Amino acid sequence: MDHEEREMILELFPGTSPELLPLGEILYYRDAEGRVVILEKGPPELRLELEPLPGTAHGPQVCEACRRHLSGSALGFFRHPVGGKDTHLRYLVLCLDTASCASHAEPERLREILLRGILT
Ligand SMILES: [Zn+2]
Repeated sequence: MDHEEREMILELFPGTSPELLPLGEILYYRDAEGRVVILEKGPPELRLELEPLPGTAHGPQVCEACRRHLSGSALGFFRHPVGGKDTHLRYLVLCLDTASCASHAEPERLREILLRGILT
């Protein structure tokens, strides 16, 4: 929400957990390699990359980012390390059309997914 507010909190309380900071601007997009990126602008800048898995979902399911019910062919499986550890992976069903998903997903929900991936 407010860049300066985040800066001020971090100045007064260095090491404040990102989940306690005011929500920053969230970017949610596919990179050139097809990975899904969820990024919260800083300070500190937080970033999670989700690796796409081959294939689509079987039958209609709910996208975990925008929470729309969609047909399986519109949804794909993605995975990301939990807590920055490659040994612990979390699997998510997300829209294959990330741009459309981004226009329906709540920033708070995207941050939830992001923090789950990077907080230890
Ligand atoms: Zn979606």
